[in-house]
Amino acid sequence: MSLFEEAKKYIPGGVNSPVRAFGSVGGEPVFISKGKGSKIYDVKGKEYIDYVCSWGPLIVGHSNERIVSRLKEVIENGTSFGAPTELEIELAKLVVEYVPSIEMVRMVNSGTEAVMSAIRLARAYTDRKKIVKFEGCYHGHSDSLLVKAGSGALTFNQPSSPGVPDEFAKLTLIADYNDIESVKKLFKENKDEIAAVIIEPVAGNMGVVLPKGNFLKELESVCKNEGTLLIFDEIITGFRLAKGGAQEYFGIDPDITTLGKIIGGGLPVGAYGGKKEIMEMISPVGPVYQAGTLSGNPLAMAAGIETLKILGEEGFYDKLREKSNKLWEGFRENCNKLGLKFAFNCIESMGSLFFKEGVVESFADAVESDTKLYATFFHKMLAKGINLAPSQFEAMFVSSSHSEEDIDKTIKIHYEVLKEMF
Ligand code: PLP
Repeated sequence: MSLFEEAKKYIPGGVNSPVRAFGSVGGEPVFISKGKGSKIYDVKGKEYIDYVCSWGPLIVGHSNERIVSRLKEVIENGTSFGAPTELEIELAKLVVEYVPSIEMVRMVNSGTEAVMSAIRLARAYTDRKKIVKFEGCYHGHSDSLLVKAGSGALTFNQPSSPGVPDEFAKLTLIADYNDIESVKKLFKENKDEIAAVIIEPVAGNMGVVLPKGNFLKELESVCKNEGTLLIFDEIITGFRLAKGGAQEYFGIDPDITTLGKIIGGGLPVGAYGGKKEIMEMISPVGPVYQAGTLSGNPLAMAAGIETLKILGEEGFYDKLREKSNKLWEGFRENCNKLGLKFAFNCIESMGSLFFKEGVVESFADAVESDTKLYATFFHKMLAKGINLAPSQFEAMFVSSSHSEEDIDKTIKIHYEVLKEMF
């Protein structure tokens, strides 16, 4: 019996997060035994250059020596206390230093938890109930946000889920990404009722879709005029596009920011932060309740601290950009050489090849992609030792541990695979 067959006997679908099951690309998922730097190894010992990077967190690669040695030090002193530690202050200080709009931050255990808590806070702060999200953006699996969502929900063609009461779903209004008029229309129809607009500043969960022109600036100003909080979900873009995330990159000042993935350096951490005045509404200072047995866990804090320290080193993002651009240019050249006109979106170290000709600037564009072609592409790349996300509607990530050799090899295999396919 394969490991997947065995896993399916005990775990729904054999996995603890749906996209891992290869549902949209077919076949059995690869079981991984270890990772080092840019590579992962399956249980049979086969090596892959990894561009999933645990879905984003591993911006410095697998088993980074500094992170591992700090974890070893910390674990010797215990794994959890349920009492404050200095490590929590250290990570909070780094977050406040790096992310421009964050004056105070609260640690939680996942991105889902961060967003769920941020929404509650925004509702309490504004004393309004409705929220606006964009079709195809994914903000975790809490009830209010699992409406027209991207990522796994989109991969499995179930962007809204049974079990989410209509009463909750009705409070979540849906706008179109990159279409400010769709946002203005919702504000007109729901005057003084919208607590927050939440957005992935660069969408990563319908594949990578970039904000067009002044879209984010206009969104910021609409929210200000309407007394609505702007929540930047930077769970992917935070510490990825720049040290200060998408808000630094695009010069936007959101009211609340949600963070996850990179902030935990591969351990389970989420966080939400923002202006002091808003954050001090959270318990125990204010009345908005939110808590966590393992929140601020010492191991998770230590991995986050080491990761953020590495990101703070001179030239980190310049080197990562250079490496990423080499890969993206290689991909574009390959397509040009083969006369393929597929859309390729990228920014800094995240990118997506869409099996759709022309441009992908909206959710409607993204879902026109040929997912069957993606499945073929994915399996051929995997067979040749390149690990990509098992879904068209995800991003690929470059880490600082990818070498020139990895990039060259990936470009070569990308060409071979596309040549075989077209
Ligand atoms: N928000 C965004 C933008 C995400 O990409 C994700 C996960 O992929 C989440 C929220 C949910 O985070 P988690 O999976 O840690 O709950």
